Amino acid sequence: MSHQEAHDVIVVGAGASGLASADALHTAGRDVVVLEARDRVGGRLLSTPVEYPGRALDLGATWFWDGEDRVRNLAARSGIAVFEQHLAGDTMLQETTGVRRLTGNLIDAPSRRFATGAQSIAAALAAALPAGALRLDTPVTAIRPAGQGGLDVLTPAGTLRAGHVVLAVPPALALERIDFHDALPTDLVRLARATPVWMGSAVKVVAHYPDAFWRQDGLAGATFSRTGPLQEIHDMSGPDGEPAALFGFAHARTVRPGFEQAAVAQLARLFGPPAGAPAALHVRDWSTERWTAPSTVRRLADHSLFGHRLYQRPALDGRLHWATTETATGHAGHVEGALASGERAARAILAASADVKGTAQHVTAPGRQAPA
Ligand SMILES: Cc1cc2nc3c(=O)[nH]c(=O)nc-3n(C[C@H](O)[C@H](O)[C@H](O)COP(=O)(O)OP(=O)(O)OC[C@H]3O[C@@H](n4cnc5c(N)ncnc54)[C@H](O)[C@@H]3O)c2cc1C
Repeated sequence: MSHQEAHDVIVVGAGASGLASADALHTAGRDVVVLEARDRVGGRLLSTPVEYPGRALDLGATWFWDGEDRVRNLAARSGIAVFEQHLAGDTMLQETTGVRRLTGNLIDAPSRRFATGAQSIAAALAAALPAGALRLDTPVTAIRPAGQGGLDVLTPAGTLRAGHVVLAVPPALALERIDFHDALPTDLVRLARATPVWMGSAVKVVAHYPDAFWRQDGLAGATFSRTGPLQEIHDMSGPDGEPAALFGFAHARTVRPGFEQAAVAQLARLFGPPAGAPAALHVRDWSTERWTAPSTVRRLADHSLFGHRLYQRPALDGRLHWATTETATGHAGHVEGALASGERAARAILAASADVKGTAQHVTAPGRQAPA
């Protein structure tokens, strides 16, 4: 990577929002490069393979709901099979006084899931990018205004220049990990530092079993607990119950030595002895993920900042565009909001480069066509 390397657009982050942005820009003929800190795409979309071919268990996002058409359409056009969340059966309520069984599923709303795991939608978007456009293991460390109206993007592997940058990193994390050389306005810095990272303090525990035995007992798997450590539990089995799994959410502050044993013991109390012997247990504490959670993550709680008006307009002379689900005005927090925010950033860049014809081309490698 030399200092001369230049592109129309650099997208920072290969989560759903960054990849949606890159996909829209590439489709519109822009030269776009995606820089991703991790060694994988997907960000908070993370699926782990299981022994059933073509199936996976989700350690990040799981569901999408009615009205989330971007997600539905993306799955359809990528050939990713979706299926209905299992709802049938009774609910368990766990209180300090004991466990009660309540008739019907009182917790889960109708929703859909991805047969191959949620991360497969990120993989599909990444696969549609041209060769070399996605760079893994490339954390962005600084962004600063460059000459000729572009932005310099610094990474340990070198500096790239772009006409526009899409910042597809949760705002509070971006402010902690990326040096903006004091170029961002104070109100924006204050806002970004205060904006929570959706599910950034969540711990997801997935217990994989040989079969969905709770269904035979007439249980939905859906549980609400006032005792924990898992506060809510859901059936996370694949299509037709394979692979069979239950998952629960806990708050990161409850994780201490013995957490896993306590979670399994809780499952056994609720669903009987077979639940105490999972074939595999996956625990993902998102608050300890360097590329998801800033050090402040447990303290950030003002969700009214999601979709704030300052995120809807670009900063740094119209060249730095916010993405990630936290910046979305609708479905914020969900994958749908992430996709919408990426599309919004792409639209703004296309509109700006249509107005100022050729500006980005000043910093683009020779031989590329001017934007339409
Ligand atoms: C446990 C859990 C359960 C969830 N359940 C659901 C659900 O059921 N349904 C739903 O709709 N949503 C759910 N969500 C939320 C959903 O996962 C997110 O809304 C969505 O994935 C966010 O995508 P994003 O692109 O906005 O951000 P991210 O996925 O966070 O992407 C940001 C990307 O930027 C990268 N990055 C960070 N810093 C840098 C840097 N300095 N340089 C380069 N790259 C960097 C990261 O590695 C990451 O790939 C859940 C989330 C979690 C954690």
